[in-house]
Amino acid sequence: MPRAETLPQIACIALGSNLGDRRAAIENASAKIATLPGTTLHALSTLIETAPVGPPGQGDFLNAAASIETTLTPRALLDALLRIEQSLGRVRGRRWGPRTIDLDLILFGDRVIDEPGLTVPHPMFRERLFVLEPLAEIKPGMTDPVTGRTVRQLLDDRLVACRSNEP
Ligand code: ATP
Ligand code: CA
Ligand code: CA
Repeated sequence: MPRAETLPQIACIALGSNLGDRRAAIENASAKIATLPGTTLHALSTLIETAPVGPPGQGDFLNAAASIETTLTPRALLDALLRIEQSLGRVRGRRWGPRTIDLDLILFGDRVIDEPGLTVPHPMFRERLFVLEPLAEIKPGMTDPVTGRTVRQLLDDRLVACRSNEP
């Protein structure tokens, strides 16, 4: 299985933490992403604080998004992200439970992938303001290859949907 792309691709990663020193976890993860082979960190968004989704009784998250240019394949990149999670002390517990660091691969160029253990674009990102807001800060014009919408449009869609659900 090849581990490198012929041409570098732009990929977007969502970072989240709600356990321990959240800021340090996100900054350390982003520093480790920047040193992956064949990879350049283009931008790290500002960090935003968000309420947790999932089981109750866990602390708020800090969330951010990063954009990179990489010659790693999507699979090699995901493997590397999962290794970085482990190296920063992530212990897998309850689904959507508290975590020192969560790294999700959101977009990988215009690639659409649906394989065991790897779905790109990330299947939930269009519904998640905590992904769309930081991503729109650094990559507003990047297009979701599934819907043809840009990140900025997806954020606006989501904000309109949230507003229409308000009482
Ligand atoms: P969610 O995916 O809803 O945000 P989560 O981040 O809590 O939930 P995890 O337990 O971190 O889920 O990940 C479970 C598995 O999801 C990982 O082991 C990985 O193989 C798989 N996975 C599939 N597609 C992706 C992707 N695009 N980014 C990250 N993980 C992915
Ligand atoms: Ca996640
Ligand atoms: Ca994850």
